[in-house]
Amino acid sequence: MQIENKKRVLVTGGAGFLGSHLCERLLADGCDVLCVDNFYSGLKGNVAHLLANPHFELMRHDVTFPLYVEVDEIYNLACPASPIYYQRDPVQTTKTSVHGAINMLGLAKRTKARILQASTSEVYGDPEVHPQQESYWGRVNPIGIRSCYDEGKRCAETLFFDYWRQYSLEIKVARIFNTYGPRMHPNDGRVVSNFIVQALQGKDITIYGDGSQTRSFCYVDDMITGLVHLMASPKKLVGPVNMGNPDEFTILELAEAVLTKVGGKSRLVMLPLPEDDPKQRKPDITLAKQQLAWEPDVKLEMGLEKTIEYFRRILIK
Ligand code: NAD
Ligand code: UDP
Ligand code: UDP
Repeated sequence: MQIENKKRVLVTGGAGFLGSHLCERLLADGCDVLCVDNFYSGLKGNVAHLLANPHFELMRHDVTFPLYVEVDEIYNLACPASPIYYQRDPVQTTKTSVHGAINMLGLAKRTKARILQASTSEVYGDPEVHPQQESYWGRVNPIGIRSCYDEGKRCAETLFFDYWRQYSLEIKVARIFNTYGPRMHPNDGRVVSNFIVQALQGKDITIYGDGSQTRSFCYVDDMITGLVHLMASPKKLVGPVNMGNPDEFTILELAEAVLTKVGGKSRLVMLPLPEDDPKQRKPDITLAKQQLAWEPDVKLEMGLEKTIEYFRRILIK
């Protein structure tokens, strides 16, 4: 009998939007994948098609509790990413980022695994520097409704860098900018999924504020490639590294692009802008381009088409 020597990879938050795509990619790359999730904002259905694969294992577990498993690499994605979800139980959100990081770093320390943190552009808050470079320290409200997510993620970055300095752990910190694609939860509340679902159902498109705020949207496949490249990069590249698509759009432009693609009779309606909503966001990805030879390929138009196709399919079911 041949003894297989596959890389054992843990993906926390593996049943979520990004996590499920990452599990798929790692299996295709020949890894043994352990997907850990408490299904707070993810769905078993996102990984149901992987369950028959003998190299895939799904474990229900909350990362705020210790986890003793043997692995070679850890992608730490566990954390609700949509404002609706992370603000529903803000104390749990901070615990997930902070206690979750401590536990996964402790696990990485014991097993000598390389560990990647899914950080976020939210560490820049409502930025006064545009586009955002990794050297920018950000402008974050420590006591607002987004703080559980922003400050939790900032503290997780601190923990990653302290474990690196103090225990020489092999860390990688990715600052992920708005990413979209198939398997976003239809009620997840993020802008791309909201607009597509509203357009497909002929409902009003809900623009928060006047729609002049900007975001830069990255298609999921590009993001997964970037994360895998970062994990495989030389040990000295610890980050933080911005990962995202620098093509910037106003929210109004996004609404119009979705409406043009979907057609239908939806109207645009303006609703109040949520507290602390960042006015502009665009990654400077020079570092990722130079150090990882990575940049996104998929233009918004193409990414929207694939995402619309996905939602059309699941909404008909
Ligand atoms: P998601 O909500 O779809 O996925 C997060 C997953 O983590 C879910 O499956 C959820 O059930 C799980 N989870 C939450 N708390 C947990 C806990 N305590 N223990 C175990 N599992 C837990 O969101 P996503 O968009 O896939 O985001 C994945 C990661 O990437 C998150 O850490 C997020 O902060 C980060 N990120 C995403 C984006 C984006 O635009 N998608 C942008 C910046 C950062
Ligand atoms: N931990 C874990 N799995 C492991 C090793 C550690 O979940 O395989 C958790 C454990 O709960 C611990 C935390 O990670 O409290 C931090 O570990 P570390 O070794 O840094 O600290 P200590 O054990 O000294 O508190
Ligand atoms: N947004 C909107 N309508 C919606 C959902 C979101 O206008 O139905 C806006 C939101 O106010 C923000 C932007 O779209 O300015 C992106 O929101 P999302 O929650 O997707 O991501 P984040 O604010 O975390 O970047």
